[in-house]
Formats: sequence, structure tokens, C-alpha cells
Amino acid sequence: MCTEPAVVYQRNIHRHLCGHHFTAEIERRVADTITLRRMISPGDRLAVALSGGKDSTALLLLLSRLLPAWQNVRLIALTIDEGIAGYREATVRAAEQVACRLGIEHHCISFPDLFGDSLDVLLEGRETQACSICGILRRKAMVIGAGQAGATKLATGHNLDDEAQSVFMNVLRGDLLRLVRNSGADSSGKFIPRIKPLSLISEKDIAAYLVLRNEWTELPECPYTRYALRREVRSVLSRFEFKHPGTMLHLIESKEKIEHLCAGSVISAPLRSCRICGVPSSGDLCQVCLLLQLRER
Ligand code: SF4
Ligand code: ZN
Repeated sequence: MCTEPAVVYQRNIHRHLCGHHFTAEIERRVADTITLRRMISPGDRLAVALSGGKDSTALLLLLSRLLPAWQNVRLIALTIDEGIAGYREATVRAAEQVACRLGIEHHCISFPDLFGDSLDVLLEGRETQACSICGILRRKAMVIGAGQAGATKLATGHNLDDEAQSVFMNVLRGDLLRLVRNSGADSSGKFIPRIKPLSLISEKDIAAYLVLRNEWTELPECPYTRYALRREVRSVLSRFEFKHPGTMLHLIESKEKIEHLCAGSVISAPLRSCRICGVPSSGDLCQVCLLLQLRER
């Protein structure tokens, strides 16, 4: 596209791009996703889940660059400190630094504040279930944090790889309900709407974007990833994507077709309310109350 040296090769479309054209393309693609899926409305106060890792850092950076194009939209960065020794300290610091550099209001809440203990303590004896327990509690923490910050929407940094992995994992577990239930599309008004502006950008493109914008930082990896099914799925799907470019996108498209076909059916029926805390839930108790009760026994 120009005479500058290329820094990225896009295998699926056999195209080389220089740093300038590549970063501009990523920003345009994210802006298009936001517009086409009507993710942001004038007056929104957008809480951006900022773990300090690469995806959420890229999301905050991209949104702050796109912000001037939207009317009266405010960004707030929201960090959840789960309490994972040897890992979270460095990422929370990275989150504080990036929010400060970009001049964005930053809120941080911790598991001990919300649930009485750090994830490390809550997990004792159940380390192999770390990611499911962490995920349930973190989603709850984000909803509380976004509510406290007065946010109208919650943006997360899930990328194309994450989304394709989730589809594949839900299929492997036979969890059709989770496959088709999309909280971002909820119209009951009980959930804070969630948006995923990076859901069509690959993990590799996000990494390249951060390097080119001088925002790449090497950070430690969560010690519990070794128990995660996602890790295996990630490596299988990456191999498939390399051999058959487009695989991840096709998985997401399949999920969207199934979601569409299930709309209005029993499987996507409205949720009940948790007996203890009242949040929307598919059972008598929501997953968080169930977890905290099991712990007390
Ligand atoms: Fe939580 Fe698992 Fe992510 Fe660690 S890898 S932060 S335990 S979800
Ligand atoms: Zn509950």
C-alpha cells in the first residue's frame, strides 16, 4: 500500500502492511465492529475491564483513541484484583500505569473486599477448578464494580481467539445453554450490557498493535493456567488456524447461526432470580451464591 517497509504479513489475504497502515487498519476494524453492532450510544459511561494484560490494555488504548468520534461518551477503567500471589501484583501495577498514562479514571476492587478472601484462599483444595471459580467470581465483581462506577456498559477485551476457544469449549462440554446465551444481547434490563469490541481481532494482531504503539510489556502468567482446559484448546485451535486460515472466524459464525436459530426457543428462555441475592440465574441459586454456600459447609 506504500513504500514503507512491511512489518506484518496477513497470511489469509496475502498482504504485507507497514506499521502505519496496520495500526490504522486495526483501529478502523474496531470502530466498524462498534458501529455495526451498535455497541456504544451517545451519553454512555463505559467501564473497561482492565486486567493489565495485553488484550485489555489494547482495548483501553483503542477506545481512548476512538473516543473523540463519539458524542459525550466517558471511559472508566475497572480492575479486579483476585488476589493471586506472584502474578496479580505486577498486572495491577501495569493497569494503574496505563490508565494514568492515558488519563482515564481508574477503579480497582479486590476479591477480599467483595467475597471475604483472596482467590488463592478461596481455592484451597480446589486448584484444578481455578478458572471456573475465578471466572464466576470475577464476572460478579465486574458487575458490582461497574455498578459502583455508575457505568452504563461494560467493555471486555475478549479477542477472536478467546471467542473461538469459548465456542469450542462449550461444544466439548456439551453446554448448549452457554453456547447460545449471550448476556450482551439481554433486553430484560437486569444485566449491565457487555460489549466485546475486539471480538473480531486476533490475539496475534493485538500483540502486533501493542508493539507498534509502544505499549507492549512482558508480564508474568497466572499460575493457575496450567489447570485450564482453555490452554489445550488454544493450542489445538492455533494449529488449525495456521493450517486453515479462517477456522476461528468460522467457529464464531457457527455459534452466531445457532444463537439465531435458538432465539425465542426453550433453550434461551428468560432466567429466574437467585433466591439469595436476586440476580438473574438459571437455577434456584446463582453460581456465586452456590459457590460461597458450598464453601461455608
Ligand atoms: Fe483466573 Fe484462570 Fe485467568 Fe488465572 S488463568 S486469572 S485463575 S481465569
Ligand atoms: Zn445469588
